[in-house]
Amino acid sequence: MRVYNFSAGPAVLPEEVLKEAAAEMLDYQGSGMSVMEMSHRSKVYDKIIKDAEADLRELMQIPDNYKVLFLQGGASSQFAMIPMNLMKNKVADYIVTGQWAKKAYQEAALYGKANKIASSEDETFSYIPDCSDLPISEDADYVYICENNTIYGTKFKTLPNTKGKTLVADVSSCFLSEPVDVTKYGLIYGGVQKNIGPAGVVIVIVREDLITEEVLPGTPTMFKYKIHADNESLYNTPPAYGIYICGKVFKWLKKQGGLEAMKEHNEKKAKILYDYLDESSLFKGTVRKEDRSLMNVPFVTGSEELDAEFVKEAAAAGFVNLKGHRSVGGMRASIYNAMPIEGVEKLVAFMKDFEKNHTGA
Ligand SMILES: *Cc1c(COP(=O)(O)O)cnc(C)c1O
Repeated sequence: MRVYNFSAGPAVLPEEVLKEAAAEMLDYQGSGMSVMEMSHRSKVYDKIIKDAEADLRELMQIPDNYKVLFLQGGASSQFAMIPMNLMKNKVADYIVTGQWAKKAYQEAALYGKANKIASSEDETFSYIPDCSDLPISEDADYVYICENNTIYGTKFKTLPNTKGKTLVADVSSCFLSEPVDVTKYGLIYGGVQKNIGPAGVVIVIVREDLITEEVLPGTPTMFKYKIHADNESLYNTPPAYGIYICGKVFKWLKKQGGLEAMKEHNEKKAKILYDYLDESSLFKGTVRKEDRSLMNVPFVTGSEELDAEFVKEAAAAGFVNLKGHRSVGGMRASIYNAMPIEGVEKLVAFMKDFEKNHTGA
């Protein structure tokens, strides 16, 4: 039996995609083998990776002067790869809105001068700071954000004013959840295990002029964007099976109507949950309303025992992985693209019952 999986990542994938992958497991389209078993240099695989890129380009309307790279090492490898490749002046500005942004900031400090130009740590990262007029460094190579904060459930609704500097964004947990204007960014990247595919693959979308030979001394070959761009993500063996699943999810997204349709679907889902949190006498959302994420919804009862009891009862009823991140406690429902609307409706019905049973309301 499949459960409603509210995990923050690795997370729920479209059932249709999983079924297709299962059907193709032993014999991919007459090749007589699984995608896991085939050469990444084969014709069959070449079509898989090329189609994946083409579909992603179509979904996000990625302009021709941006490269799409399918890399490995997860999102965290980019915390180092970005400064190694982009810190020409050895200066970068970081907006710290959560653990992932903080880790990226700390990693960048190993390679140059990383400036924390804004932070919301003073209120447990429960909001997005005003980024309309930040002290952007004159010689900053880029301004870095984590666009959707997976752990805290906040999202940048407007991008920061970078005063002309290159914007770099970690979109791991909001990847393909709504349309984006790629031209506003120099580099967009995300680990795919939140909204697109199996863990390990990281997709980097980077403007061509940012891909140069000029990287920090000592940068490993595998950490150079140029080597991967020049080799169309086939410099070495890529995470081939993971990319194949991502490709299937891209096709599924196209079938759903693309990113406009996803946004509508995600807004509808999130509204059901947020509306209930706003009226509940037991459950409360933890994030400033205007900064609420469509993907990750943290909430609490105010009592640690009751939180634990809720997580336990919910799991028994088939709503799993609702425990909040260990750094915040409480609960978190991650409602990525592949979470059906019924999953959220049924969760809210379950929460209402729980509220009635524990408050008499
Ligand atoms: C999960 C996550 C990461 C880390 O991803 P890994 O693939 O485990 O390295 C980084 N940034 C964000 C926003 C995330 O949600």
